[in-house]
Amino acid sequence: MHNDCHVHSKGDEKASDILRSMDEGGVERMVLFAPYGDTPERMREATDYVARIRSEAPERILGFCWIEPRHEGAVEELERAIVEKELVGCKMIPDHWYPYEEFIFPVYEKAQELRIPIIFHSGILWGFGDSSRFCRPCFYEVMLHFPKVKFALAHISWPWTDECLATAGHFRSAVGGDVSRMQMYIDITPGAPGFYRQEALDKALKYLGPDRLIWGSDSRATTVGEYGRELYERERMILKELLGRSEEDMRKIFSDNLMDFLKPLD
Ligand SMILES: [Zn+2]
Repeated sequence: MHNDCHVHSKGDEKASDILRSMDEGGVERMVLFAPYGDTPERMREATDYVARIRSEAPERILGFCWIEPRHEGAVEELERAIVEKELVGCKMIPDHWYPYEEFIFPVYEKAQELRIPIIFHSGILWGFGDSSRFCRPCFYEVMLHFPKVKFALAHISWPWTDECLATAGHFRSAVGGDVSRMQMYIDITPGAPGFYRQEALDKALKYLGPDRLIWGSDSRATTVGEYGRELYERERMILKELLGRSEEDMRKIFSDNLMDFLKPLD
């Protein structure tokens, strides 16, 4: 069994279908993102939806709200999602806003107060129009101002994987080089096509070691069984056979690190 830190919902899936797909794919736990709400009202509905799904299997479905910081009431919605609806984290995609813009700071402050992690999209963005330029990894250096917020940059920020690793290096140096105290993680969900993966994963492991890498599939909630499984097997093969990584490293990447990510920093 493995964990998956990056699964999307559309808002119409049934919990029973999701759980069946997880069983088929050997997925023990997964982070399930709420769908994107393009209005404040739809954002709240999306929170409610993912909270309902989560409540069917709270140990296995780690529900994340999706906060669009430009929506009115974004901060209150984050609080409601975590406190009332018992979600455990937050997903954000920069849709024509830069992660370092000050209007977003109240959201980061709330995440810090609630001690919950954020998974940010980073790298080329195929939705949201011409938004890729907002998603460069070094823009997330702003999180140095919110040192108790754990966050992950998704997709190793492909194609800016070197910049992503360098950014992680900055966060490592900010805590005196102690990886176990770093607030930044890397969600290694593909982005990079298969033939880039070996190099990207090799660099990430050489530079950071295994403790801050968390694996995800970018599946849909009902395809983790099939699509997610295929990807998982390919990635295991790359790590084990091509890169010679140990079973212990793989257990961290495919399983333990996600649970660590959800724990607040001291
Ligand atoms: Zn995704």
